[in-house]
Formats: sequence, C-alpha cells, structure tokens
Amino acid sequence: MLPYGRQSIDRSDIDAVVSVLQGDWLTTGPAVDTFEREIASLAGLSGQSVSVTSGTAALHTAYGAMQLKPGDEIVTTPLTFFATATCAMWFGAKIVFADVSEDTGNLDPEAAASAITSRTRAVAGVDYAGHPIDAPALSKVAHDAGALLLEDAAHSIAGTLDGMPVGSLADVTTFSFFPTKNLTTAEGGAVVARDADLLERARLFKSIGYERVPEQMAEHGGWYYEVNSLGLNYRLPDVLAALGSSQLKRLPAFKARRQEITDRYNAGFADIDVLRTPGHRAGASPMWHLYPLRILDGRRRALFDHLRANEIAVQVNYIPVHLQPIFAEQGYRPGMFPVAEAYSDAEISLPMYPDLTDDQVDRVIDLVRTFVGA
Ligand SMILES: *Cc1c(COP(=O)(O)O)cnc(C)c1O
Repeated sequence: MLPYGRQSIDRSDIDAVVSVLQGDWLTTGPAVDTFEREIASLAGLSGQSVSVTSGTAALHTAYGAMQLKPGDEIVTTPLTFFATATCAMWFGAKIVFADVSEDTGNLDPEAAASAITSRTRAVAGVDYAGHPIDAPALSKVAHDAGALLLEDAAHSIAGTLDGMPVGSLADVTTFSFFPTKNLTTAEGGAVVARDADLLERARLFKSIGYERVPEQMAEHGGWYYEVNSLGLNYRLPDVLAALGSSQLKRLPAFKARRQEITDRYNAGFADIDVLRTPGHRAGASPMWHLYPLRILDGRRRALFDHLRANEIAVQVNYIPVHLQPIFAEQGYRPGMFPVAEAYSDAEISLPMYPDLTDDQVDRVIDLVRTFVGA
C-alpha cells in the first residue's frame, strides 16, 4: 500500500533521539528549549515558541491563552480537521462556520466578514493542504471586529506568503507534528504568538498553570509555587523535541521534494477537464502537505475505491466539519456552506510525502488517467 502521507526518518533522526535517551533529561530539558527557539525562528519570531504534545493540544492551548469564555464566538472553516473547531468548545465558545474559497479551499475573507458578530473573539483559518490563508485580508476582518486571527498551520510549517513565514502572518499560529504532517515528533505540536503575554499564558496552560516566580521564591522559600489559572499537562518530552530539531534540519529538502511531487501531479493532470488540481495563488509558497485532487464528474467514490483496490491508500480531507453530528444540534445542515461541501464531495488526497519516488507518482497518475478515460 502507498499511504497518502508518511514520515521520513533517517539515521540523523534516530541518532538525535538515542542521544537524548542516554542523557539526563527525558522530558522538559535542553532539547525542548532548543526546539522551541528553532520553531520561533522558523516562524520569523524572536524568542520562544510553546511546544505541546499534539496539534490538538496546540489548538486547545491557543484558545486557552485567548481566555475564551462561554458565549464567545469563533469564526472558522468547515474544511478542516474538526479539532480546529472542537477545541474552542471546551471553553463554551460557539462555533460559527463560514465558507471557503473555491481555488484554495481556505476560509474566504468575505464569508468570514459576514459571520462576524459583536461576540466574535477569533477568526480561525486553516492553511488547507499547506497553502497559506489570505492572512492580510483575514487579519483585517478579525482586527476590525476587535478579534484575533488564529492560523491553524498544521499543514503548512515552512510555507510563506509574500516572503513572510507562516507563524508571522497571524496573531496566533498552531502547528502539528503528527507523522503524516510535514515534520514529525511522533506526536507533538507548537504555538507561536506575536503577543508575549498571550504566549506566556499558553506556556502556563500547557504546564498545568504551575508558576514558579523567582521573586516569590526568594520571599517565601525555594519550594514556593502558585497556581493562578487552570492548565493541563501538555509538555512535549525532550526525546521528541530532539526528533523535531533533527527533522527541522531536513525541512528545506522536504519542502523542495513536496513541490516537485506537486508539479509532477499537476503536469500529469493538466489536460483533463474533469480533474481540478490544487489552486496556487500569487505570492504564496505553500508547504504541500496534501495533494488534494478534485474530480468534478461525481465519481469521487468510484475513484477512491479504484485507487484503494490498486494499493493506493488515498484519503478524503475532509468531511465538512459542520456536518458532523456534534454540530447538528446547533442547526448546521447540508447546503449551508456550498463551496466547502462541493470541494469536499470532489476531493481525494493522493499520496504526498518526501520519500515518494517519481515512479510511484507516475503510477498514481496513470491509474487516475486510465480511470477517467484519458
Ligand atoms: C492534524 C491536524 C490537527 C491536529 O493535530 P494532531 O497533532 O493530530 O492532534 C489540527 N488541525 C489540522 C488542520 C490538522 O490537519
């Protein structure tokens, strides 16, 4: 089976993990500190990022750091992994979906603007397939309403927009380091933010709200700590942070290979009318996490089954989130976000990962071309 995505682990990654296992720290130690600085610097930010145990934990932590309250609203896209929305619901926030743009599948700034109310606290965009959101337009929509722009960049670490790295485009950005993503720590994630206070609240949230302040310790004793806010233990271990740092060295090569594969697929499908290749806007340098092909003749299910029968483990990203049963009681129904629904109905994610060979890509292209009768 060719999977739709998988990790690339080499000797340097293995050695990095083994050397931490042989050292003094297994969890929060020097490797976490290094990895957090490297992620911030890749995101074009000075100082630190906040590493966590998954992309889901990163979203939960980011919403926690925003201090969401019951009744607050989050405007977000239906074309995402559902955690973008559900993590805000832990704080009692209401999820307000808005439709996507037809070309990229990313949250449409105009649709987001019409979904804003006086209760909107954040607009949460997703860099679908690795293509950055229209951050300048979405920032304006959010900031005009006194809300923040959150960028769920689970797909897009090392992507850029107008030369600016993902991580520097929004007020808060979250990453996932799951094995199918662009860089892996097995399980892991990170939060970056422009505002130092918000980032500090993120750090407290992911470390159980445990505060050890040097001045207070000097006053009360070296054992002193305080708990002033609620948090969870979302600490990324040193063992996994070391894998992340090792993977970061390989990230430019991963990005180049993902672009080559995208170009090869695009060329393979360019002459076929019923197929639509992923949109790519001027100024964007995507980190292609997925290759979302769309088949417009209504035969997505048949193509999916055909490729699976030929040992190609394709995927669909995503079932529109507003159609999940958990949102039905809020009144969400099919037909409410027609662009996202049409995108999802036609979409099929072809294999996309750095170690995929040209021959394997060509085999997938041939299977798809034969299927559509080209
Ligand atoms: C993978 C993903 C997440 C969740 O990340 P995990 O590390 O799997 O918890 C969140 N949002 C998007 C868009 C994702 O693709």
